[in-house]
Amino acid sequence: MKCPRCKSDYYSKNGFHNRKQKYICKECGRQWLGEKSDRGYPQPVRELCVKMYCNGLEAKAIGRYTGISYNTIINWVKQAKSTGKMSLDMVDDPETTEADQSSHFITSLYSQKNPPPRSSPSGH
Ligand SMILES: [Zn+2]
Repeated sequence: MKCPRCKSDYYSKNGFHNRKQKYICKECGRQWLGEKSDRGYPQPVRELCVKMYCNGLEAKAIGRYTGISYNTIINWVKQAKSTGKMSLDMVDDPETTEADQSSHFITSLYSQKNPPPRSSPSGH
């Protein structure tokens, strides 16, 4: 990717706008929106994919279950790591550790457009 105005590749990230990565050119100061960082998937879906990844599922497997591209999932994982959101409390939900259940879970997520109520961890 290059600056749309001066074709420089000397640019840096400049925050987000409507969940799209914003960039700013350091040569001419032009700002523009990059490719969508998450393809518009709702936040619960992103978090679930990262959670599945934390539980040991490979990104390719998650992609197969969810239909989300491998690269998108990897990006989410990277973002979660860089923002510190990938933490132990995300691997704490026994109901999403099984791949089949995760698949079912995300299917219902899509159909309902509402995340199901979280079961509170017991005995801790
Ligand atoms: Zn420029």
